[in-house]
Amino acid sequence: MRPLLELARDKLKRRKVIAVMSGKGGVGKSVVASLLALSIRGSALIDLDLSGMSIPKLFGVSGKLHEVGREGVEPIVVGGLKLFSLGGIVGDRYVVLPGYGQAGAVEALIAFAKLGDADTVIVDMPPGMGEELLALGRIASYVPVVVTTPSKASYKVVKQLVDYLIEVGRKPRAFILNMAYVECGGARIYPFGRGDEARRLGENVGARVYEIPIDPSLEDYVGRLHEYRGPVAEAVRDVARGL
Ligand code: ADP
Ligand code: MG
Repeated sequence: MRPLLELARDKLKRRKVIAVMSGKGGVGKSVVASLLALSIRGSALIDLDLSGMSIPKLFGVSGKLHEVGREGVEPIVVGGLKLFSLGGIVGDRYVVLPGYGQAGAVEALIAFAKLGDADTVIVDMPPGMGEELLALGRIASYVPVVVTTPSKASYKVVKQLVDYLIEVGRKPRAFILNMAYVECGGARIYPFGRGDEARRLGENVGARVYEIPIDPSLEDYVGRLHEYRGPVAEAVRDVARGL
Protein backbone atom coordinates (compact mmCIF):
# COMPACT_ATOMS: atom_id res chain seq x y z
CA MET A 1 0.00 0.00 0.00
CA ARG A 2 1.43 3.40 -1.00
CA PRO A 3 1.54 6.19 1.57
CA LEU A 4 -1.68 8.20 1.83
CA LEU A 5 0.15 11.41 0.99
CA GLU A 6 1.24 10.00 -2.37
CA LEU A 7 -2.25 8.71 -3.16
CA ALA A 8 -3.72 12.11 -2.31
CA ARG A 9 -1.14 13.89 -4.47
CA ASP A 10 -1.95 11.61 -7.39
CA LYS A 11 -5.65 12.27 -6.95
CA LEU A 12 -5.22 16.03 -7.35
CA LYS A 13 -2.25 16.06 -9.72
CA ARG A 14 -4.24 16.72 -12.86
CA ARG A 15 -7.06 18.64 -11.25
CA LYS A 16 -7.49 22.32 -10.53
CA VAL A 17 -7.80 22.87 -6.78
CA ILE A 18 -9.51 26.01 -5.52
CA ALA A 19 -9.29 26.48 -1.75
CA VAL A 20 -11.72 28.87 -0.06
CA MET A 21 -10.22 30.22 3.14
CA SER A 22 -10.09 33.07 5.65
CA GLY A 23 -8.38 34.04 8.86
CA LYS A 24 -11.87 34.31 10.34
CA GLY A 25 -14.83 32.05 10.99
CA GLY A 26 -18.39 32.95 10.08
CA VAL A 27 -17.50 35.14 7.10
CA GLY A 28 -19.16 32.93 4.50
CA LYS A 29 -16.41 30.55 3.35
CA SER A 30 -18.69 27.54 3.21
CA VAL A 31 -21.45 29.43 1.40
CA VAL A 32 -18.95 30.81 -1.14
CA ALA A 33 -17.24 27.41 -1.61
CA SER A 34 -20.61 25.71 -2.16
CA LEU A 35 -21.89 28.31 -4.61
CA LEU A 36 -18.57 28.20 -6.48
CA ALA A 37 -18.87 24.43 -6.79
CA LEU A 38 -22.45 24.77 -8.01
CA SER A 39 -21.45 27.33 -10.62
CA ILE A 40 -18.33 25.62 -11.98
CA ARG A 41 -19.37 22.79 -14.24
CA GLY A 42 -17.50 19.56 -13.57
CA SER A 43 -16.39 20.47 -10.08
CA ALA A 44 -16.58 18.50 -6.83
CA LEU A 45 -16.70 19.96 -3.33
CA ILE A 46 -14.52 18.68 -0.48
CA ASP A 47 -15.21 19.80 3.08
CA LEU A 48 -11.93 20.09 4.98
CA ASP A 49 -13.35 22.01 7.94
CA LEU A 50 -12.99 18.88 10.05
CA SER A 51 -14.18 20.30 13.35
CA GLY A 52 -16.80 22.66 11.93
CA MET A 53 -18.25 20.78 9.00
CA SER A 54 -21.06 22.85 7.55
CA ILE A 55 -21.29 21.56 3.97
CA PRO A 56 -23.66 18.70 4.92
CA LYS A 57 -25.89 21.19 6.76
CA LEU A 58 -25.96 23.65 3.84
CA PHE A 59 -27.10 20.88 1.50
CA GLY A 60 -29.49 19.24 3.96
CA VAL A 61 -27.72 15.90 4.24
CA SER A 62 -26.83 14.15 7.46
CA GLY A 63 -25.59 10.81 8.76
CA LYS A 64 -23.25 8.26 7.24
CA LEU A 65 -24.16 8.82 3.61
CA HIS A 66 -20.81 8.09 1.99
CA GLU A 67 -20.57 4.56 0.67
CA VAL A 68 -17.09 3.39 1.52
CA GLY A 69 -15.85 0.45 -0.53
CA ARG A 70 -12.57 -1.10 -1.62
CA GLU A 71 -12.44 1.29 -4.56
CA GLY A 72 -12.80 4.42 -2.44
CA VAL A 73 -15.46 6.77 -1.12
CA GLU A 74 -18.51 7.45 -3.27
CA PRO A 75 -19.60 11.10 -3.37
CA ILE A 76 -22.82 12.34 -1.85
CA VAL A 77 -24.63 13.82 -4.84
CA VAL A 78 -26.98 16.75 -4.23
CA GLY A 79 -28.46 18.78 -7.08
CA GLY A 80 -25.93 17.20 -9.45
CA LEU A 81 -22.98 18.27 -7.27
CA LYS A 82 -20.56 15.69 -5.86
CA LEU A 83 -19.61 16.42 -2.28
CA PHE A 84 -17.28 14.81 0.22
CA SER A 85 -17.26 15.42 3.96
CA LEU A 86 -15.87 13.49 6.89
CA GLY A 87 -19.34 13.85 8.42
CA GLY A 88 -20.68 11.56 5.69
CA ILE A 89 -18.31 8.84 6.92
CA VAL A 90 -18.34 9.19 10.69
CA GLY A 91 -21.95 10.36 11.06
CA ASP A 92 -23.23 13.31 13.02
CA ARG A 93 -21.04 12.84 16.09
CA TYR A 94 -18.42 15.49 16.62
CA VAL A 95 -14.85 14.71 15.63
CA VAL A 96 -11.85 15.59 17.78
CA LEU A 97 -8.51 14.95 16.14
CA PRO A 98 -4.94 15.72 17.18
CA GLY A 99 -2.83 17.56 14.58
CA TYR A 100 -1.42 14.40 12.97
CA GLY A 101 -4.95 12.98 12.90
CA GLN A 102 -6.19 16.07 11.07
CA ALA A 103 -3.42 15.72 8.50
CA GLY A 104 -4.28 12.02 8.12
CA ALA A 105 -7.98 12.76 7.69
CA VAL A 106 -7.27 15.39 5.01
CA GLU A 107 -4.98 12.98 3.15
CA ALA A 108 -7.41 10.06 3.46
CA LEU A 109 -10.47 12.05 2.41
CA ILE A 110 -8.68 13.26 -0.72
CA ALA A 111 -6.88 9.98 -1.46
CA PHE A 112 -10.08 7.91 -1.36
CA ALA A 113 -12.57 10.43 -2.80
CA LYS A 114 -14.03 9.03 -6.02
CA LEU A 115 -13.84 12.28 -7.96
CA GLY A 116 -14.73 10.63 -11.26
CA ASP A 117 -14.65 13.10 -14.13
CA ALA A 118 -14.51 16.19 -11.90
CA ASP A 119 -11.61 18.27 -13.20
CA THR A 120 -11.93 21.02 -10.58
CA VAL A 121 -12.03 20.53 -6.84
CA ILE A 122 -13.37 23.23 -4.56
CA VAL A 123 -12.10 22.89 -1.01
CA ASP A 124 -13.92 24.43 1.94
CA MET A 125 -11.30 25.26 4.57
CA PRO A 126 -11.59 25.88 8.32
CA PRO A 127 -10.72 29.39 9.56
CA GLY A 128 -7.12 30.31 10.15
CA MET A 129 -3.84 28.60 9.40
CA GLY A 130 -4.09 25.20 10.97
CA GLU A 131 -3.13 21.65 10.15
CA GLU A 132 -5.74 21.30 7.40
CA LEU A 133 -4.15 24.14 5.41
CA LEU A 134 -0.65 22.74 5.93
CA ALA A 135 -1.85 19.27 4.92
CA LEU A 136 -3.55 20.57 1.77
CA GLY A 137 -0.36 22.48 0.92
CA ARG A 138 1.65 19.25 1.07
CA ILE A 139 -0.81 17.56 -1.27
CA ALA A 140 -1.56 20.09 -3.98
CA SER A 141 -0.78 23.45 -5.39
CA TYR A 142 -4.07 25.19 -4.70
CA VAL A 143 -5.56 28.47 -5.94
CA PRO A 144 -6.47 30.50 -2.84
CA VAL A 145 -9.76 32.35 -2.66
CA VAL A 146 -9.76 34.54 0.45
CA VAL A 147 -13.05 35.53 2.05
CA THR A 148 -13.54 38.26 4.61
CA THR A 149 -16.14 40.85 5.56
CA PRO A 150 -15.52 44.60 5.34
CA SER A 151 -15.53 44.79 9.16
CA LYS A 152 -12.29 46.06 10.69
CA ALA A 153 -12.59 43.17 13.15
CA SER A 154 -11.53 40.70 10.43
CA TYR A 155 -8.68 42.68 8.95
CA LYS A 156 -5.75 41.62 11.12
CA VAL A 157 -6.19 37.86 10.89
CA VAL A 158 -6.98 38.01 7.20
CA LYS A 159 -3.83 40.07 6.62
CA GLN A 160 -1.85 37.39 8.46
CA LEU A 161 -3.33 34.70 6.22
CA VAL A 162 -2.53 36.72 3.09
CA ASP A 163 1.06 37.26 4.35
CA TYR A 164 1.38 33.51 4.89
CA LEU A 165 0.04 32.72 1.42
CA ILE A 166 2.50 35.12 -0.18
CA GLU A 167 5.33 33.62 1.84
CA VAL A 168 4.54 30.08 0.65
CA GLY A 169 4.21 31.28 -2.94
CA ARG A 170 0.44 30.96 -3.26
CA LYS A 171 -0.88 34.36 -4.15
CA PRO A 172 -4.62 34.79 -3.54
CA ARG A 173 -6.43 34.81 -6.88
CA ALA A 174 -9.67 36.25 -5.57
CA PHE A 175 -10.30 38.38 -2.51
CA ILE A 176 -13.92 38.51 -1.46
CA LEU A 177 -15.60 41.08 0.75
CA ASN A 178 -18.67 39.07 1.71
CA MET A 179 -21.77 40.50 3.35
CA ALA A 180 -20.55 43.88 2.09
CA TYR A 181 -23.82 45.66 1.36
CA VAL A 182 -27.60 45.38 1.33
CA GLU A 183 -29.58 46.39 -1.69
CA CYS A 184 -32.36 48.74 -0.57
CA GLY A 185 -34.69 50.44 -3.06
CA GLY A 186 -32.00 50.44 -5.74
CA ALA A 187 -29.35 51.89 -3.39
CA ARG A 188 -26.53 50.02 -1.73
CA ILE A 189 -26.10 50.36 2.03
CA TYR A 190 -22.76 49.33 3.51
CA PRO A 191 -23.50 48.45 7.15
CA PHE A 192 -19.84 47.62 7.98
CA GLY A 193 -18.30 50.47 6.02
CA ARG A 194 -16.66 50.12 2.64
CA GLY A 195 -13.83 47.86 3.83
CA ASP A 196 -11.18 50.07 2.20
CA GLU A 197 -8.35 48.56 4.23
CA ALA A 198 -9.29 45.02 3.24
CA ARG A 199 -9.86 46.02 -0.37
CA ARG A 200 -6.37 47.54 -0.56
CA LEU A 201 -4.92 44.38 0.96
CA GLY A 202 -6.43 42.33 -1.85
CA GLU A 203 -5.43 44.80 -4.55
CA ASN A 204 -1.85 45.05 -3.26
CA VAL A 205 -1.28 41.34 -3.74
CA GLY A 206 -2.75 41.41 -7.22
CA ALA A 207 -5.97 39.55 -6.40
CA ARG A 208 -9.28 40.37 -8.02
CA VAL A 209 -11.45 42.00 -5.37
CA TYR A 210 -15.18 41.22 -5.24
CA GLU A 211 -18.07 42.48 -3.14
CA ILE A 212 -20.88 40.09 -2.32
CA PRO A 213 -24.17 41.44 -0.96
CA ILE A 214 -26.01 40.36 2.16
CA ASP A 215 -29.13 38.47 1.15
CA PRO A 216 -31.38 37.82 4.16
CA SER A 217 -33.29 35.23 2.12
CA LEU A 218 -30.17 33.03 1.96
CA GLU A 219 -31.06 31.68 5.40
CA ASP A 220 -34.19 30.06 3.93
CA TYR A 221 -31.93 28.03 1.66
CA VAL A 222 -29.74 26.56 4.38
CA GLY A 223 -30.45 22.87 3.83
CA ARG A 224 -31.17 23.29 0.12
CA LEU A 225 -28.46 25.65 -1.10
CA HIS A 226 -28.48 23.94 -4.51
CA GLU A 227 -31.90 25.57 -5.10
CA TYR A 228 -30.68 29.09 -4.30
CA ARG A 229 -30.57 31.45 -7.31
CA GLY A 230 -30.37 34.84 -5.56
CA PRO A 231 -27.86 37.72 -5.69
CA VAL A 232 -25.17 35.92 -3.66
CA ALA A 233 -25.09 33.11 -6.23
CA GLU A 234 -24.95 35.69 -9.00
CA ALA A 235 -21.98 37.43 -7.36
CA VAL A 236 -20.18 34.12 -6.81
CA ARG A 237 -20.65 33.25 -10.49
CA ASP A 238 -18.64 36.38 -11.25
CA VAL A 239 -15.87 35.15 -8.96
CA ALA A 240 -15.93 31.76 -10.70
CA ARG A 241 -15.48 33.39 -14.10
CA GLY A 242 -12.31 35.13 -12.85
CA LEU A 243 -10.62 31.98 -11.50
P1 ADP B 1 -17.80 30.25 7.39
O1 ADP B 1 -17.73 29.04 6.54
O2 ADP B 1 -16.83 31.31 7.00
O3 ADP B 1 -17.74 29.95 8.85
P2 ADP B 1 -20.58 30.27 6.52
O4 ADP B 1 -20.48 30.10 5.06
O5 ADP B 1 -20.97 29.08 7.34
O6 ADP B 1 -19.25 30.93 7.13
O7 ADP B 1 -21.61 31.48 6.78
C1 ADP B 1 -21.91 31.94 8.07
C2 ADP B 1 -23.35 32.40 8.11
O8 ADP B 1 -23.52 33.57 7.34
C3 ADP B 1 -24.33 31.37 7.55
O9 ADP B 1 -25.49 31.37 8.33
C4 ADP B 1 -24.61 31.87 6.14
O10 ADP B 1 -25.87 31.47 5.67
C5 ADP B 1 -24.53 33.38 6.33
N1 ADP B 1 -24.09 34.09 5.12
C6 ADP B 1 -22.90 33.97 4.50
N2 ADP B 1 -22.80 34.80 3.45
C7 ADP B 1 -23.98 35.48 3.40
C8 ADP B 1 -24.51 36.51 2.54
N3 ADP B 1 -23.79 37.01 1.53
N4 ADP B 1 -25.76 36.97 2.80
C9 ADP B 1 -26.49 36.48 3.83
N5 ADP B 1 -26.05 35.52 4.67
C10 ADP B 1 -24.80 35.03 4.48
MG1 MG C 1 -17.34 27.04 7.02
